[in-house]
Amino acid sequence: MSIFTKIINGEIPCYKIAEDTNFIAFLDINPNAKGHTLCVPKKEVNRLLEMDEDLYLRLMKFSRKVGLALEKTIPCNRVGMAVIGLEVPHVHVHLIPINEMRDMTFKHKVSLTEDEFIALAEAIKENL
Ligand code: AMP
Repeated sequence: MSIFTKIINGEIPCYKIAEDTNFIAFLDINPNAKGHTLCVPKKEVNRLLEMDEDLYLRLMKFSRKVGLALEKTIPCNRVGMAVIGLEVPHVHVHLIPINEMRDMTFKHKVSLTEDEFIALAEAIKENL
């Protein structure tokens, strides 16, 4: 069982932003930039291109909605999107408010306090 399935099942906590029948969005715990969010299908699939087409398209629709809320909440040049999955083999779309290329490198990280994570998730939720 992936760590994201444990989050989906409520076994470990997350800073949740959105949830529907098929997907959940929560803040990345080790963010590249403030607002870095993961959009995850509840069905545990390893690779993006293994998803059936319908679920893939719905994941993009869900991610678009969350991305628009991020753009409203976090001052940034734009929201970058990436799918990697080398660390957690459960499909997730990274949505990252970016200003420069290093924000998409996964080498430059920012640290936030628990209170900052909570406030950020609340602010993004209000813009959904
Ligand atoms: P990757 O699989 O390479 O796309 O990266 C996995 C991402 O999941 C990384 O950005 C991690 O910081 C993030 N991550 C891992 N565990 C958690 C967790 N418990 N809550 C939120 N984000 C996580």
